[in-house]
Amino acid sequence: MRPKAWMFAIHLGFFCAAAGAALGAHVLAAGQAQSMARKSPVMEPVPALTPWADAHAHFDEKDVAGGIRSALAARGRENTPMIFLLMSPDTFDHPGHYEAEIILPEAKKYPGKIAVVGGGGSLNAMIIQSAATGDAGPAVLTKFKERAEQLLREGVAGFGEMTAEHFDGNTPYQHAPADHPLFLLLADIAAEHGVPIDLHMEAVPQDIPLPAGLKSPPNPPRLHANIAAFERLLAHNPRAKIIWAHAGFDNTGSRTPELNRRLLAAHPNLYMELKADPLAKGPNYPLDADGKIKADWLALIQEYPDRFVIGSDQHYPEPKDPVQRWQEVVLLLNQLPAGIREKIGTRNIAHIYGKSAGAAFHAANN
Ligand SMILES: [Zn+2]
Ligand SMILES: [Zn+2]
Repeated sequence: MRPKAWMFAIHLGFFCAAAGAALGAHVLAAGQAQSMARKSPVMEPVPALTPWADAHAHFDEKDVAGGIRSALAARGRENTPMIFLLMSPDTFDHPGHYEAEIILPEAKKYPGKIAVVGGGGSLNAMIIQSAATGDAGPAVLTKFKERAEQLLREGVAGFGEMTAEHFDGNTPYQHAPADHPLFLLLADIAAEHGVPIDLHMEAVPQDIPLPAGLKSPPNPPRLHANIAAFERLLAHNPRAKIIWAHAGFDNTGSRTPELNRRLLAAHPNLYMELKADPLAKGPNYPLDADGKIKADWLALIQEYPDRFVIGSDQHYPEPKDPVQRWQEVVLLLNQLPAGIREKIGTRNIAHIYGKSAGAAFHAANN
C-alpha cells in the first residue's frame, strides 16, 4: 500500500510549527519559514506500514514518568508496539550519570510495551574508568560481574548503551578498547543470560586525526583504530549477541555499507541497529535527498535481513524539533519489501531478546 508514501511525506524548505497537529495540513510559522528554509525538512508523521519495535530510544532522566508516558503515547502514532529505553553511556566523573534503577519500577508496569536496557551509567562507566586507569585486576572484574548480574536480577533486558568510542555531547568524550577485559567479561555474562549488548562505537578502521567538524578538546586530536578490537570482542564469545548501534549515523566517514557487510559476513553474532537522523545527516546516510533508500544500503539489508533492527535513538518526550528521528527511520522501513520489513520490525527483536523481553513482546502483541 502507498508504495511511494515517502515521496509525499517529506517537504523540504519549510518549517512546520505543528506538524503533528493536523493530519495532512501544514501550519507554517510565517516569520520562521524563511529563516528555517534549507535547514529543516518538514515531515508529517507517517506511521510504519507494519509494526516495529524500537530497539534504541532514550528518556528524560529528570522526568522518568513523563518519559514513559510520552513513549507509550507514541506507540500508536508510530505503530511501535514496543520501545526499548536505554541508559546514556556515561562516566562516573559526569554529574548527570544515571542508571536503570531510576526507571525500572515504572517501566515494569508495561511488560511487552516498554523494556529497559541498562548498564550505560554504571557498567559503561566502570569500563571507561578501567581503560583510563589500566586497572582491570580481579577485584575490578568481580565488582563488574556483580553489578551486571544485579542489573539483570532487577529486570534489564540487555546491556546498553555501552560505548567504546563516543564523541562529546550530552555526555563526555568516551573511549575504551572494544576488546577491553571488561567488554570480554560482559560478552560472557550476556551470552550466559541470553541478553544482548547494545554498543555505540564510532567506526575507526585505522588511527586518524579527529574528523573535521569535531572539536578538540573536549574530543582528542587523534582517534585510535577500533575495528580489529571490535572483531576480537565479537569472536571472543560467539554466543554473545552484540548490536552495533547507529548504522546510518556515521561521524567518521568509515561506517560504510561495505564495512557493515564485511563484519556481518565474518561474525554471525553481530546485529545492526538502523538509525537515520534527519537533523544530523552525515556521511553514509542511508536515504537520498528525496528520502529514498540508497541502493547500497538496500542491497545490504536485503542480503542480511535477519541481522538488522531499528534503533531510532528517539528521545521521549519528543524534542521540539520539526521532525523526529523515528519519522526518518520509519521512512526507511516503509520502503523495504514487506517480508524484510516484518523481520527488521519485529521478528529479529524477538530473536535477539528471546529470553528477556522477546517473550513479553510476543505475548503482548499477539
Ligand atoms: Zn549512541
Ligand atoms: Zn542512544
